[in-house]
Amino acid sequence: MRTKLADLWKPAMGINIKDLKHGIYLFQFYHKDDMQWVLTNGPWAFDNLTLVINIVKAGEDLIKVSLNEVEFWIQIHDLPYDTKNNSSIWHEYMRLRIKIDVRKPLKRKTKIVKKDKTEVVVTCKYEKLGDFCFICGLLTHTERFCNKKLETADGGITREWGKWVRAPPRRMTGNSISKWLRAEGDGDWG
Ligand SMILES: [Zn+2]
Repeated sequence: MRTKLADLWKPAMGINIKDLKHGIYLFQFYHKDDMQWVLTNGPWAFDNLTLVINIVKAGEDLIKVSLNEVEFWIQIHDLPYDTKNNSSIWHEYMRLRIKIDVRKPLKRKTKIVKKDKTEVVVTCKYEKLGDFCFICGLLTHTERFCNKKLETADGGITREWGKWVRAPPRRMTGNSISKWLRAEGDGDWG
């Protein structure tokens, strides 16, 4: 995990990763920009399990740091929109950055109130969502380790969540060109 995350994050000033106790790690950054980049560009996963990350201030008791929230980009689908203006793909969904409480099941739908005060139920899809339990909708375990499943007789299990809670990979707009590529005749080279 140390190697994989360090390679993924590429902190300019380096990183130190300590294994504190089962499943809890301390990531020490040597520059605040490196830390900020990791916090802004999450959520992150290892082995497809979401990392719950929080900041530890200098001198703060590690046990008191809460590890209950993860920020996700969610896509709101089935948004009501002006049917006269449906020519653009921009109306497909809306993206919101929201904090998820990992102690609560993932919301699959949410209510929004329109200008005319009527309510509409819209579908939420989560970007970069790793493994989670399709029975409980919780990020903290997978079905194999689900207490609800272990305590329920065969056939009594219903899966109200599924892969569809994950947002499909975002469509690239325009041509994706590496910033490292240069056109021929684009300035002097040396
Ligand atoms: Zn479960």
